[in-house]
Amino acid sequence: MVKENLETVRKTIPSGVLLVAVSKTKPVEDIQEAYDAGQRVFGENHALEMRDKHEVLPKDIDWHFIGHLQTNKIKYIVQYVRLIHSIDTFNLLQAVNKEAVKHDKVVDCLLQFHIAEEETKFGFTLDEIENCNVETQDFASVLASMKNVRICGVMGMATNTDDMEQVRKEFRHLKEIFNTLKAKYFADCKWFKDISMGMSHDYPIAIEEGSTMVRVGSKIFGERNYN
Ligand SMILES: *Cc1c(COP(=O)(O)O)cnc(C)c1O
Repeated sequence: MVKENLETVRKTIPSGVLLVAVSKTKPVEDIQEAYDAGQRVFGENHALEMRDKHEVLPKDIDWHFIGHLQTNKIKYIVQYVRLIHSIDTFNLLQAVNKEAVKHDKVVDCLLQFHIAEEETKFGFTLDEIENCNVETQDFASVLASMKNVRICGVMGMATNTDDMEQVRKEFRHLKEIFNTLKAKYFADCKWFKDISMGMSHDYPIAIEEGSTMVRVGSKIFGERNYN
């Protein structure tokens, strides 16, 4: 089924939008099936699970980390992770930078923003970035002090609701945040270009609102029993 699902989803995604196949909780056999159908980009939300899968699966897979990342788990993914979507505090960004220095690497990251109505979703607000005050430094100085992380854009999750106008409004908000950051801090950065938004039930709307990366799990791999 994975191959068929993948092909169905692919047909709905325009070129220029990256499909991240979210394989969290799913066995390596399912990932291998998607790989054999040509998929190379996979998303996971637990560091140890991603490490274990990375060890046994083909080495040309691009692993994207999409979940809440604890600082003590960075070391399990930093060597090979292609993109961390879920930087949600300055503290985490600094910790990733520090770990990346040890490996003499530059790690690509997205800043996660809280755009949903729900209290539980992680992420920055634009206000937190604009009024950043880490050891008395503003955001631009904080960024300049970290040579081993590269901010490539933003990520967000819309409210889990059937109200698609609400979802659309939230995606539009994330795009506005992206535009603001781009103009204010990343005007000369050609790599600040990604907006990671859209999941199985809402990715077509996310694409209409400017998504460059969709994170699709259950529509490819089937429903998850646990999360
Ligand atoms: C699980 C997850 C997804 C994929 O969710 P589906 O509804 O199964 O497509 C996307 N993004 C994040 C951050 C997730 O944790």
